Amino acid sequence: MKRHAPVDLSPEELRRLGHEVVDLLADFAASLPSRPVTRHETPSEVRALLPPGPLAAEGRPASELLRETIPLLADHSLFNSHPRFWGFITAGSTPIGALGDLVAATMNPNVGAWGLAPIASEIEAQTVRWIADLVRFPSHCGGVLGSGGAMANYLGFLAARRAKASWDVRTKGLREGPALAIYASAETHTWIQKAADLFGLGTDAIRWIDTDARQRMRVDHLESAIAADLASGDRAPFVVVAAAGTVSTGAVDPLREIAALCRERDLWLHVDGAYGALAAVLDDAPEDLHALALADSLALDPHKWLYAPLEAGCTLVRDPRLLVDAFSFHPDYYHFAPAGEGEPDARPGTNYYELGMQNSRGFRALKVWLALRQAGRDGVRQMIADDCALSRLMHEAIAAHPELEARSQSLSISTFRYLPPDPAARAPARLDALNRALLDRLQTGGEAYVSNAVIEGAFHLRACIVNFRTQREDVLALPELVARLGREVDRELAR
Ligand SMILES: *Cc1c(COP(=O)(O)O)cnc(C)c1O
Repeated sequence: MKRHAPVDLSPEELRRLGHEVVDLLADFAASLPSRPVTRHETPSEVRALLPPGPLAAEGRPASELLRETIPLLADHSLFNSHPRFWGFITAGSTPIGALGDLVAATMNPNVGAWGLAPIASEIEAQTVRWIADLVRFPSHCGGVLGSGGAMANYLGFLAARRAKASWDVRTKGLREGPALAIYASAETHTWIQKAADLFGLGTDAIRWIDTDARQRMRVDHLESAIAADLASGDRAPFVVVAAAGTVSTGAVDPLREIAALCRERDLWLHVDGAYGALAAVLDDAPEDLHALALADSLALDPHKWLYAPLEAGCTLVRDPRLLVDAFSFHPDYYHFAPAGEGEPDARPGTNYYELGMQNSRGFRALKVWLALRQAGRDGVRQMIADDCALSRLMHEAIAAHPELEARSQSLSISTFRYLPPDPAARAPARLDALNRALLDRLQTGGEAYVSNAVIEGAFHLRACIVNFRTQREDVLALPELVARLGREVDRELAR
């Protein structure tokens, strides 16, 4: 008798169910603008929606499960694809990327080795090259896709450690040499702490460099911190981490000056461009974004400003050998010949397991590659330019509102806060408490979603537009919404 696996679907069932699921998803997409961004539900309320008890002994038909699951998700999620979602730096997903994920999962290549994923490996290589071109990074660089910005930064960090430690750190470990020092601005994303911890340096290895009034790394402080470590000999400087778009306010560090200093001191320059690097496609980008090519390594996030469905990050390393050097081993049980050696174009295929931390790897590139081709270079530029223009419009509308204070605007991030009309109600601690409570109300209310930034110690609201679904009217609705909820909170605090 022919075996029947309970998770299999016949081609006819797959066809019928696939059509039905896509219809439901298209209805969902059409309904998004009229849904709340999120519903305010507690963990126990959400948990109660799931089937109770242990996994049932008997299975159920796929059609029933999918029909039940789509409304379950549609009615109990927070939607980062909602036109009024501007929290953190999280983009909604491209429809072509979502369909690409379905295709990728169906083909299911293992993009760990070229021989296991010939066309998928080449698509990843081309995607990486196109991304490098978009941000004007040398296109002969090494590069690899990963789960997101944090992972992309880890790979750059490890490439730096391998290249700049004066001893063989991969064999001997950290005990063999002097303690290492990392230089990063106080605005650096928290991945740097995880990296210092995970990779054995400890967070004391981070020298936190002050920022200026625009949250950019102060190069004079950087220079003196490096000089102090060199003079004392306690720690050996090896990497400077600079930001191309900080997570809080979108600040771009003075990359040219930092690169010059790194060259002078023989330090690795790693640029965290998880959010902002892709804005280098804009001709009117902050000048330093046009200096990304000076970095030794660069992290950026296709799941941010290329709107790829989660997850997709990308690491670029200027000298491709230094990426391989940081990760490659050749175990006996892998017989992956360097595919294509001696072929006409002389570029062997890449075995991606040698370029990062993952072994088996999914086909992340497809969703990014498809969206890049759908938009083209001009389309990518237009979407990012539109996000930035809408952010500036939002900032102007906030500045024009008598009860709101506009604080900073860079790339597509605007920061601001509610200021009660009564000057006596504006003590710093009260303003912080008011805006904190206001943020809670905004995040649970479902009308729009923003997050926060602490700027020079003061709590601010923060809207980041990496959202191709956002329209002018969405942006223009925010100031009065914030003011209305701000007034409510202010009245409650006054009581
Ligand atoms: C988002 C972000 C990260 C982390 O990226 P994930 O994709 O969330 O892992 C790191 N640095 C910056 C500047 C970011 O904006």
